Amino acid sequence: MVPGHGDPQPRDRHHRQRGHLRPGLGRRAPASLRAHAQPRRRPHRDLRPRGARRGLRRGRPVHLLLRRRAAQGRQGRGHPRQPGGDQVSEHAHQETVFTYGAPQLKFGLGASEEIGYDLSLTGAKHVLVVTDPGIAATGTPQRVAEQMARFDIRADVFDQVHVEPTDASLQEAIDHARAHGPYDAYVAVGGGSSIDTAKAINLLMTNPGELMDYVNVPVGEGRDPVNPLKPLVAVPTTTGTGAESTTICVLDVLAQKVKTGISHARLRPTLAVVDPRLTLTQPAGVTASAGMDILCHALESWTAKQYAAYPRKQPEQRVPYCGANPVSDMWCSRALQLLSHAFRQAVHHGDDEDARYDMALAATFAGMGFGNAGVHLPHANAYPIAGQVKDFHPDDYAGDEAMVPHGMSVSLTAPEAFRFTFDTNPDRHVEAARMLDPDAPMTDDPADLLPTVLSRLMRDIALPNGLGAVGYSDADVDDLVTGTMKQQRLLSACPKEVTEDDAARVFRGSFEIW
Ligand SMILES: [Zn+2]
Repeated sequence: MVPGHGDPQPRDRHHRQRGHLRPGLGRRAPASLRAHAQPRRRPHRDLRPRGARRGLRRGRPVHLLLRRRAAQGRQGRGHPRQPGGDQVSEHAHQETVFTYGAPQLKFGLGASEEIGYDLSLTGAKHVLVVTDPGIAATGTPQRVAEQMARFDIRADVFDQVHVEPTDASLQEAIDHARAHGPYDAYVAVGGGSSIDTAKAINLLMTNPGELMDYVNVPVGEGRDPVNPLKPLVAVPTTTGTGAESTTICVLDVLAQKVKTGISHARLRPTLAVVDPRLTLTQPAGVTASAGMDILCHALESWTAKQYAAYPRKQPEQRVPYCGANPVSDMWCSRALQLLSHAFRQAVHHGDDEDARYDMALAATFAGMGFGNAGVHLPHANAYPIAGQVKDFHPDDYAGDEAMVPHGMSVSLTAPEAFRFTFDTNPDRHVEAARMLDPDAPMTDDPADLLPTVLSRLMRDIALPNGLGAVGYSDADVDDLVTGTMKQQRLLSACPKEVTEDDAARVFRGSFEIW
């Protein structure tokens, strides 16, 4: 790893680039002293190639290392910078640009009480509040709608969002809006399902055509919206999905039995309003599952293929998910650090406002990271795991419909997936494990460290012990693999190619986690 990049403590970068471990501790300090002086900064074995270590110790300029790494292949470990002068030809076909987008953010206790005012600034006169029946029963969407009257805004409430939206449920929501609109703005109150449904309504109320025109290829036509969308305020009440930050709407296409999405920069909400108080009543099982989603967003973005490992794009080819980059790294690493102390506490002591606050902050940070970098194999696997569910129903989730909640479905193959990606960047995997559990003892094989930290956490917060515990057996592997291979948009963010055999190995290794 290139020193400094990916470092959660940028102030330390200056010293590490010069081969120093910390101010006042020279680079010739004995190894034993260094280990004691710096237990958290670099407690693990230096896993960089010998040559890279030697180069740094000799103070070789970082740009030479970057150039050499770039020349060594497309799995760049760092973030090559914009080349200059005679370096241009070497980089002509390699990506040198990354992008970052995020909604405006209003965060904190009571933030959701200001939405009426915020919308009044847009000139809105008629808005649609979008939510699901479960959230509607808490009264929160109604309270949000009632704020509007003070600002002469008429608010309708659509409370029939389907948890885990389908093409049919989205169509119903769009039809409702078409019948009662037009609307000047939308407010989504709820989990990812409500926010994604509002994105779809907004898209189809401002643009021509029908839903399937915009769904990702090969399932749909993958058409780009031609018109700008109306303002969308996203108010997450489930900590974790990150839907308030992202440019994607996830849906099940029933006829094709596939979970897919609509992905475009214009789908990103205009304003995210994150009020940790709204999550205080979230039951332990939901907090555990949603928290694993936050964690996997951060981990997958942190380990995603680097933006510079992609071929150079033309301006019109740029996509919201551009690969791991210095900005997404910063958000993801902070999210991991917050989770390291808040996650278990929020699950076991849900009334702890500080833990809820930090979980909401972690979810927001991870959303800002993965909303630009992208997620990869655990999320690709989650689609068939959720989509092919048999009769599993988790505790703490309403109803009795068979379901594997999103965060749970993402987490079940995560330990094995990160074992699979370890060799693409050992440093990053070890560093992630350290951020998540600074006290975890090093495993005999460094590739086991992150899977071990993850599985211990999952056991502590009472997640199911692997795919077997949610009803899958070896006989299902072929179908699961087929489902994963359909998620090419996600797999393209994986730091290494995923073959059918690779995916099968990851599934087979995930039947029992501990
Ligand atoms: Zn997710």
